[in-house]
Amino acid sequence: METQQLTTLAGVIDKKMNRQLKQYIDICARCAICKDACHQYVGTGDFKYLPARRAELIRQIYKKYFDKAGRFVPALYEARDPDENLLEELYESTYACTACRRCMYFCPFSIDTAWILSVAKAMLIAAGMGNEMLSQLADAAIMKGDQPELFRDVLVSGFKDIEAEVREITGDPSAEIPVDKEGADILYVGLAGAHSIRPAAVIFHEAGASWTLSLFESANYGFFLGDAEKARKIADRYMDEALRLGVKEVVITECGHAYRVAKIFHEAWSGKKHPFRVRHILEVIDEYITDGRITVDPGSVKGAITYHDPCQIGRNGGLFEEPRRIVRALAADFRDLTPNREQQWCCGGGGGIVAMSEFDEDRIKSGAKKVEQIRATGATIIAAPCENCRLQLEQLRDHHELDLHITPIMDLVVEAMPLAGTKAAQA
Ligand code: SF4
Ligand code: SF4
Repeated sequence: METQQLTTLAGVIDKKMNRQLKQYIDICARCAICKDACHQYVGTGDFKYLPARRAELIRQIYKKYFDKAGRFVPALYEARDPDENLLEELYESTYACTACRRCMYFCPFSIDTAWILSVAKAMLIAAGMGNEMLSQLADAAIMKGDQPELFRDVLVSGFKDIEAEVREITGDPSAEIPVDKEGADILYVGLAGAHSIRPAAVIFHEAGASWTLSLFESANYGFFLGDAEKARKIADRYMDEALRLGVKEVVITECGHAYRVAKIFHEAWSGKKHPFRVRHILEVIDEYITDGRITVDPGSVKGAITYHDPCQIGRNGGLFEEPRRIVRALAADFRDLTPNREQQWCCGGGGGIVAMSEFDEDRIKSGAKKVEQIRATGATIIAAPCENCRLQLEQLRDHHELDLHITPIMDLVVEAMPLAGTKAAQA
């Protein structure tokens, strides 16, 4: 690699450098407490997945370019150039990280390894080594936002098909999936596909909510890629729609990272404060049940059920009690996983890793702790709001031959509601 190119890559760290990053780089005591917190390290035993080791690669470049002692005696201070070898190591340890931030929770100095790795992702992208699949998915989403007229008719016709199912489920021929409804209270942002739209539409209909469906999906591959500009553009699609329609709130489907993008990151990326609030659909459903806007059968869930806190909804999103209250309202036998809430183990499926086949083998190994937790409860049903978590849990179930039904919470709620129509339509 040319000297000029190495300096340019090191410049990415310089650009991202702030007091927080410098502090993270300086204060790591190398105590390795974080190793027992990382599901990937615990599940694979592979040194490259040790959280402090992942961050160490960035630290080595920092020392080579920005630390006096490291600049003059690199061998003594483990200072390194971001050459191809280092970048390849960095790629594996960075894109495998699910950004669950469990290591940060247990680190005595709260070092946010996932955040340090966001700098690593920026460097990899600058070197042309960002993940190809995530990049393609992000670009496709941005293209859809740039030319919505190309997709609109196909999307709306698909929504009409789902609307017909909603009418069948609710038994109400006037039930609707509104699109582009100005002045609606809620803009609901689902995922691609009927599974995240149909149950939400039933719930909004039964609650008598004023809502409209976004033309865009909330999944954000720019966020997983580590490209803040692309991530912002993807979220802008529905945030601009919310502004245009004048809604009071944006409600994100059960997906974890999408909620965090909308709730936590988008204002910082865009530099603008939202004139509406952002909530997760489970916050809204919890409110509907508590306020009596929808009725649910408390014995609807038959058998022992547990709940998996997706990292981006729980530890990183702060929603712990809302999903539990909903599940408890439907089930007599709720058994929490141990540990849970802030200490919950990552299932291994976050951070976009399910879309990167090169990590498949390690991904399955890294779910070992989750399998152990589920087995310990004896539950045969697990509610898991995040779609990436569900994909991972399904593969873990098949791999470990677990007797386990994996379900989104919205489906359980619809199943528990006294509806006039046929619930078979939702299958
Ligand atoms: S727990 Fe924190 S201080 Fe200890 S090695 Fe890991 S990142 Fe460094
Ligand atoms: S954020 Fe999660 S996956 Fe990444 S290093 Fe920390 S514990 Fe491991």
